[in-house]
Amino acid sequence: MRYTLPDLDYDYSALEPHVSAEIIELHHGRHHAAYVAGANTVTDELAAARAAGELGAIPGLERKLAFNVAGHVLHSIFWKNLSPDGGGVPEGDLAAAVERDFGGFDAFRSQMTAATVSVMGSGWGALCWEPLGARLYVAQLYDHQDNIAPGSVPLLVIDAWEHAYYLQYQNRRADFVEAVWNIVDWTDVAARYEVARDLRV
Ligand code: MN
Repeated sequence: MRYTLPDLDYDYSALEPHVSAEIIELHHGRHHAAYVAGANTVTDELAAARAAGELGAIPGLERKLAFNVAGHVLHSIFWKNLSPDGGGVPEGDLAAAVERDFGGFDAFRSQMTAATVSVMGSGWGALCWEPLGARLYVAQLYDHQDNIAPGSVPLLVIDAWEHAYYLQYQNRRADFVEAVWNIVDWTDVAARYEVARDLRV
């Protein structure tokens, strides 16, 4: 089994003016691709360590595995969460769940924006489904893999790493996050919610 870089559903320039073609091309073709390559490399390294009985290498390799696989997963979701036809607000069951768990869309959006903008260093804001409590919550992820409850399903993720915005927005991460709200594909987020709510832990 090998991890592979998924194609985008849109051209690199399709999300302009909100996110520039230059950013999307580098972000997908270089940064996301590097996590895919890293996930494959560490998978091979774990196999080699197992075969050689070098289990002292496990802590470092497991950390590298979590970082690269989580990076691959989050970017794969992120690209699908965005669309040149996006924006607006969720509808249907997802809208009802946001109302129930956050007290309304505006309250959710404010919390998600704050979580994303205030990441210290590199990370993400994420709207997640938490299956044990059967509720939505906002997670603030560090790097790609830290600060999320096991079993949680990311439904909507916003990349807060500098590579996601710096070429266009420089240090203005908040302006980038505001722009992202214009291109969120709520149809995709709602489809993820419909699948996630049937999961059991
Ligand atoms: Mn990224």
